[in-house]
Amino acid sequence: MATVPVETLDIIKKFGPHLARANATRLDTGVEPDRTVKTHCCFCGQQCGIQLLVKDDQVVGFEPWMEFPFNRGKLCPKGVKRYLQESHPDRLLHAYERDALVPEGFKPIAYDRAVARVAAEITRIQSQYGHDAFAVLSGASLTVEKAYLMGKFARMCLKTSNIDYNGRLCMVSAAAGNKKAFGIDRAANPWSDILQAEVVWISGANIAECAPITTDYVWQARENGAKIIVVDPRITPIARTCDLFLPIKPGRDVALFNGILHLMIENDWLDHDFIEQHTVGFDEVAVHVKGWTPQRTAEVTGISERAIRQAAEWWGTAKTSFLMHARGIEHHSHGVQNVLGAINIVLASGRIGREGCGYATITGQGNGQGGREHGQKCDQLPGARDVSNPEHRAYVAKVWGIDPSELPGPGVDAYEIFRKIDAGEVRGLLSICFNPIVSLPDNNFIRRTLEKLEFYVAIDFFLNETARHADIVLPGSLHEEDEGVVTTVEGRVIKINKAVDCPGDARQDWRIIQDIARQLGREQGFTFSSPREIFEELREASRGGIADYFGITYEKIERQYGVFWPCPSEDHSGTPRLFEEGSWNPVAKGKGRFYFPDGKARFNVARYTPPAEDTDEEYPIILTTGRVVSHFLSGTQTRRIGPLVDHYPEPRLEMHPLLAERLGIVTGDWATVESRRGACTLRVQVVKTIRPDTIFIPYHWPGRKSANQLTISAQDPISKIPEYKVCAVRVKKADKPPEYVSELEPQQ
Ligand code: SF4
Repeated sequence: MATVPVETLDIIKKFGPHLARANATRLDTGVEPDRTVKTHCCFCGQQCGIQLLVKDDQVVGFEPWMEFPFNRGKLCPKGVKRYLQESHPDRLLHAYERDALVPEGFKPIAYDRAVARVAAEITRIQSQYGHDAFAVLSGASLTVEKAYLMGKFARMCLKTSNIDYNGRLCMVSAAAGNKKAFGIDRAANPWSDILQAEVVWISGANIAECAPITTDYVWQARENGAKIIVVDPRITPIARTCDLFLPIKPGRDVALFNGILHLMIENDWLDHDFIEQHTVGFDEVAVHVKGWTPQRTAEVTGISERAIRQAAEWWGTAKTSFLMHARGIEHHSHGVQNVLGAINIVLASGRIGREGCGYATITGQGNGQGGREHGQKCDQLPGARDVSNPEHRAYVAKVWGIDPSELPGPGVDAYEIFRKIDAGEVRGLLSICFNPIVSLPDNNFIRRTLEKLEFYVAIDFFLNETARHADIVLPGSLHEEDEGVVTTVEGRVIKINKAVDCPGDARQDWRIIQDIARQLGREQGFTFSSPREIFEELREASRGGIADYFGITYEKIERQYGVFWPCPSEDHSGTPRLFEEGSWNPVAKGKGRFYFPDGKARFNVARYTPPAEDTDEEYPIILTTGRVVSHFLSGTQTRRIGPLVDHYPEPRLEMHPLLAERLGIVTGDWATVESRRGACTLRVQVVKTIRPDTIFIPYHWPGRKSANQLTISAQDPISKIPEYKVCAVRVKKADKPPEYVSELEPQQ
């Protein structure tokens, strides 16, 4: 039973979160570093270039890396303070075994003994209940090499189909929509195309806080004369500087896109030649959007008809444009429909695959793009191949030296793995760099489910909140302790360079995985001696696939400041802009620009359905969740970095003055938010930057501060992304603060 072994507060006292601050060498302005290492930020999908300053095998500071073309030295607060997580007091330096008899709940054990116990438990569970009874949950912050290895480890070593990753909570609606419309899942354009756009359309993307460097591109476009349209339920920082703000009711994006297409057709703001030559399916979509009159669109979306007409005119009549979206339209039970609606207005405009004419989804996690291309998704093999496709299986099996029949079939998504644990079908779990007890919706269910596991091993560099349930914890590596490649928001493959060694008994994650394989007696295929060796095999495994990395080498990445995939051969320089006339395309083979056998993009009818849980008399307010600039995802790293916690110490409940007045609440009051799944009491911030029918809570905190106690586990039927962006709640002023409000808060 993977219960928390002792009182949570006792675990926190030992393992944190504690706060790291600049002190000693890091505060000494006269310190001369031993070396400077060019690498990238460990946080979001922008993957800004940065130089780490290293002295005595410790990261002591940073300097901008001015030459790296994406960010040209610019960083957000997280990038500036990232170096403080290295040499952190909470860093796991040993393997640990749960022990309810020691005060902190876990006792250090020898690394080899820990690995032996993991292998013994995997063997026991799989021989008793079958291969699929052991599941793997992986992470999209891992390098491409590690993500590749995790998929190979699950399928070839553990022979389980049950592997998925935390990109399931992030990018999968965009991925599914892009594959349906374009046949390929990658940002269509490099960010440099934003600068030449006449109109930049940003839907559901709080870029100033979640992808800050993108803000700079948008502002440069604005300086060049671009009109900026922002669609969001909140007046986010980018919305404060836009030309047209559409305050959409959460969960209604597809209705807006359909309404825009309706007006484009009505006013003949269409690129007929492009639609005719490069797409299929327009007529059916045109019939569907006939019903999306401006009046109906306004009623459903809560946006004024005038603003809808203005947006349609600017979008429809532009000569160049760039549309981008993020989780705001993707985190829905109909996230794929929202994405398809967005793509329809891009295709109807014909403005894609050309300079200054682009479309992109903004990846969230550091390797959100590369982490979803090479086999750690439940339905996917390396090179974005399909685990159900016999040809794809045969190709990858050959690279791995096994028979295709030995490869398991498709598994289930990350949330479904927890449902399987609850049902007793999955008995054992290995997680790496995944903190589901904070990041999954309806997380009281996740906590109860974890307690049903017979065995749980967590690999991480800090003891995250989920790992407190583990039987064994193995100390993995920080970003700066290993090398490998990562694929950025643009589809640019870049290189992470090692700055320092792993401390204590901590090891690079790929070594830990190989140690488990060896201990299981299944080391065939897991004898790599470096990330470079893994990458060489990955190049071959992705060769000929849609996400083709065959032509990418570490040296070429260094030379070119990254290589955009697809890159099919060593003499190919990569593909910054997809869908250009004559660009490499192994599916269309010269028949067209898009990745289908006929080379044509697909219009898809994008259907509007209300959110899974709409408001009613009992729960009359919409809750939407998201990020703040100072923190990242489940906060395992950023809640340990002092200056970032100082910026934003705890979640605030944002509500509009009209709602606050109705509830008798003022800024600084405590209020309790209740959904059908849970409740939490937070301090209120009254803001004019949100719709009066909606409240916002950032989701980076665990336990009683966790927004995901409230959120709903409804999922998109295609992408299986959870509906983080809308559920129904009620709010009332709290009589008193919650019992614990400090960082040392017991989780339950
Ligand atoms: S968090 Fe993202 S935007 Fe900020 S410095 Fe890191 S990579 Fe750049």
